Amino acid sequence: MLDLSILLVEDEETIREELGFFLRHLAPGGVNIASDGEAGLELYRKYRPDIVITDLEMPQRNGMEMIEEIRKIDPGQPVIVTTAHSDSRFLLRAIELRIDHYLLKPIDLSILEEKIAKIGRQLRLERELRQQSQILEEIAHLEGNMLIVLDHTFEPIFLNREYLEFFGIDSVEEYREKECRLSDHMQHQEETFVPEKRDGFDWVRELERKEPGRRVIALKNPRDRAITFYAVSITRIPETGHTIVALSEITELATRQQFYRRRARFDELTGLYNRFVFNEEFADRIKRARSLGKNLCLILFDLDHFKVINDRYGHPVGDRILVEVAQLLRELVEPGDFLGRWGGEEFVILTCRDPEGARELAEKIRRELKKRLFSEKITLQCSCGIACSRVGKETEEVTELFRRADNALYRAKNEGRDRVVSDR
Ligand code: GH3
Ligand code: MG
Ligand code: MG
Repeated sequence: MLDLSILLVEDEETIREELGFFLRHLAPGGVNIASDGEAGLELYRKYRPDIVITDLEMPQRNGMEMIEEIRKIDPGQPVIVTTAHSDSRFLLRAIELRIDHYLLKPIDLSILEEKIAKIGRQLRLERELRQQSQILEEIAHLEGNMLIVLDHTFEPIFLNREYLEFFGIDSVEEYREKECRLSDHMQHQEETFVPEKRDGFDWVRELERKEPGRRVIALKNPRDRAITFYAVSITRIPETGHTIVALSEITELATRQQFYRRRARFDELTGLYNRFVFNEEFADRIKRARSLGKNLCLILFDLDHFKVINDRYGHPVGDRILVEVAQLLRELVEPGDFLGRWGGEEFVILTCRDPEGARELAEKIRRELKKRLFSEKITLQCSCGIACSRVGKETEEVTELFRRADNALYRAKNEGRDRVVSDR
């Protein structure tokens, strides 16, 4: 609700008192009263009332002169003129001074009340509109969020403060002149989007083709090189052809997600890939090998009598040994081979060598492991089972290959350990 305030300027005492009394209950924001144009202007400057109601014929500076001065201060100031004459000279001047409300004396109070109510409604609407655009402006400049408004040709017509600051510039014009491109600063970070087309805002169209949950970009700040993650939302406004692109900062969330993603993929103790990734890789590689008519061999390792190490030296030493074994395996496999920890003291390797090559690799690991002196001068042995996918056998399942390798490992254990057994 608007607390209307009114300035009344009237030189005739009886009218002044009568109107002043009447206006008081219409203007909760207060009524200021002056008896001539000079005093009226002074009160206007001091109180800036919502509505000015003034007589025209007055001593000291008449009403027209006062309105002229008020218009210089606020061209939009609502003014109601009360006048005894309706000649055309006055009307012309009134049009010039943009006086859209005037009342002939003697004043009909109900008409005055109506006019005041109308102006009050108008003022309230204007004020609400102003507040709304202030709020919108504030939202547009929210810290950490970048906002871009594109026209139907995908040219930027609005870039918020945060966006301009990223490039260290002040305006959209400067942005165009310097040909700044956000896409040049996008970084590939695990799951983040990097566009194929770097021109203008073409990347928005490209990004739009991804599902909303995957519209994440990482930006490298050109000045301090810091990486910031943003979730991008794209809103098309069909009526106007505009596109609103909002980038919300999610660095903390994305970093945490990265952390959990890593933790979900790597074995915490040894840093090798875990069983989850092995299963994924196994399915992928066997499919690929089959479609290329190539080999895929699975090697399973199990340390012999590892329980004894734990029993004799304690679990922490056992842990350290497992880390050292993992390191040795890393040194012995070749790029392209997949190495993971299956669990406990068991490791897996996927390799696309032929069965002979896979056997050589397993033998080399068995020998090197046996030669190596681990922490606390501990020596180890291992057993190993190998199974290779049969080229041309279309239907072989991941589980079948695994079962064959596991059987081979079982035989290696049964036949005395410290050996490599290939499945047929
Ligand atoms: P085998 O030659 O038959 O394989 O004998 P083993 O003792 O190695 O086999 P078993 O499966 O009976 O025991 C495996 C042992 O590995 C039991 C467990 O204490 C140890 N182990 C499994 N995971 C870990 C681990 O993360 N840290 C440590 N320190 N020990 C582990
Ligand atoms: Mg075991
Ligand atoms: Mg074992």
